[in-house]
Amino acid sequence: MSNMNKPHNIYIHVPFCMSKCNYCAFFSSACANPDWDKYATKITSEVSYWSKKLGKTSVPTIFFGGGTPSLMPTKVFERILTEIYSCFDVQPDAEITLESNPGTIDSQKLADFCTIGVNRLSIGVQSLNDDKLRFLGRKHTASDALNLIHNATKQNIRVSGDFIYGLPDETTHDVINICKQINSIGLQHCSLYELTIEENTPFGKMKLCMPDNQTMADMYVAIQENLKLSRYEVSNYAAPGQYCRHNQNIWDGGAYIGIGPTAAGRIFLDNTWYEQIGDGVRFAALSDDERAVEKILTGLRTVHGVELTDDVKKVMNLPFAKSVPDMLRFTEQNRLTVTDQGILVLDDIVTKLVK
Ligand code: SF4
Repeated sequence: MSNMNKPHNIYIHVPFCMSKCNYCAFFSSACANPDWDKYATKITSEVSYWSKKLGKTSVPTIFFGGGTPSLMPTKVFERILTEIYSCFDVQPDAEITLESNPGTIDSQKLADFCTIGVNRLSIGVQSLNDDKLRFLGRKHTASDALNLIHNATKQNIRVSGDFIYGLPDETTHDVINICKQINSIGLQHCSLYELTIEENTPFGKMKLCMPDNQTMADMYVAIQENLKLSRYEVSNYAAPGQYCRHNQNIWDGGAYIGIGPTAAGRIFLDNTWYEQIGDGVRFAALSDDERAVEKILTGLRTVHGVELTDDVKKVMNLPFAKSVPDMLRFTEQNRLTVTDQGILVLDDIVTKLVK
């Protein structure tokens, strides 16, 4: 099979954590000492599988997500990265992100990761309040997180922080404080996620008194008003030029290979789009309509919206889009974007927008 040589980003899933957090429904298991050799062998065989399918495709970004990728021994990281470089045409300025949790990576290990290739560190800070960290089931303290941010900044790499807001009893004032802390640390990128209660998590079994919808909406608006960074996706904020290229490609409907257990991917092969399912090497074709719907769902999450190409217009309820100018805006670049007001009810809008 030949490929049109469309660039494909690569996502590697690392499904191990020190312990499970109380809110977490991601695919990961509490296992601080997994069989890393077995893991690396499985991952490198998937890398080689996809290079045989796609050829020496260009790779603009590589993202190690999890789980807790920073638990990985640096030798394992090096083995996987070496395989990717030998199988694909990794771009010289490739963005190589490692997700990390404070307390799992000291300054020497971080320096080693950076020497091998990491140039962007995404840190699971979640909160800078020790009581809240304990409540969330995190195993680190606020000062562990600040130390990791400090160490990463010294490595001269790009640094992002993940935060969770909307905890039980939290107020808009608390959220404004989080924003002020992020501003004073000087992070150039951060993700702020609303706490959602998932079934089959410890939080799912507790009767938590969550902030109501109006409070959540007020918190969301407060973030936009108080954070110095600009929102470029529903939950992501960055200084100019600091957005995550890997995730932006996904939201733009670009191609990416998912490697490792449960990793999702969108493969472009022989002029057809495929969805990866389950264990990384199984995939199924997507129809043009399915792809177009995906582009709407992900594109509208970003500030530059979705391009109104023919396939997108075919599955879109255009009369509805035109009927809510306070929620949806048509741009001169032939795109449809969501307004600040619309973003607060994005799920409702999308349900009505897709035919
Ligand atoms: S560290 Fe992340 S992936 Fe692991 S259990 Fe906690 S939230 Fe889930």
